[in-house]
Amino acid sequence: MSTAIYPGSFDPVTLGHLDIIKRASRQFDKLIVCVMVNSDKHGLFKPEERVELIRRVTRQLPNVEVDMSAELLSDYAKRKRATMVVKGLRAVSDFEKECQMALINRKLNPNLDTMFLPARQNFTYLSSSVVKEMARYQVPLNGFVSREIAEDVQAKMDEFIKKSQS
Ligand code: ADP
Repeated sequence: MSTAIYPGSFDPVTLGHLDIIKRASRQFDKLIVCVMVNSDKHGLFKPEERVELIRRVTRQLPNVEVDMSAELLSDYAKRKRATMVVKGLRAVSDFEKECQMALINRKLNPNLDTMFLPARQNFTYLSSSVVKEMARYQVPLNGFVSREIAEDVQAKMDEFIKKSQS
């Protein structure tokens, strides 16, 4: 069985991420979308909340599993018997860092390769940070995140702004 991992912060999952998930899931028996937990990086959403949002937007994709991990990616892949890491590339600027990561991961786990998928042209500008910035200024989130999570993302940002003002 071929298993691939799509790792990221997903704070929150965007339509750009979802496009990569759909395309990658067609190429493998199983795709694990994994929220990588980094203790120095505090996001807007807790890792458990990010997992829940990804589960909601991938409900229709039977071979997609959603998980979170604080492990090194190469160790996580070994444990899951995954042989491929999937990454989306938005611009040449993404490539340098991603290529370095791919080489390190293969050094640590020689059975682990990385596949790059180019972002769809209309999503090249899209990142989780753009989504958060739009939400902060009450710009409707349709076109940035899936309909089923847009309200919750906005509510989370509203709550964050309220807390930071009190
Ligand atoms: P960000 O916080 O930059 O949105 P993540 O760390 O969650 O991104 O990204 C996880 C992976 O998804 C990375 O490989 C990243 O390059 C890719 N990615 C992020 N946004 C997009 C997009 N709009 N289109 C394609 N791939 C994307």
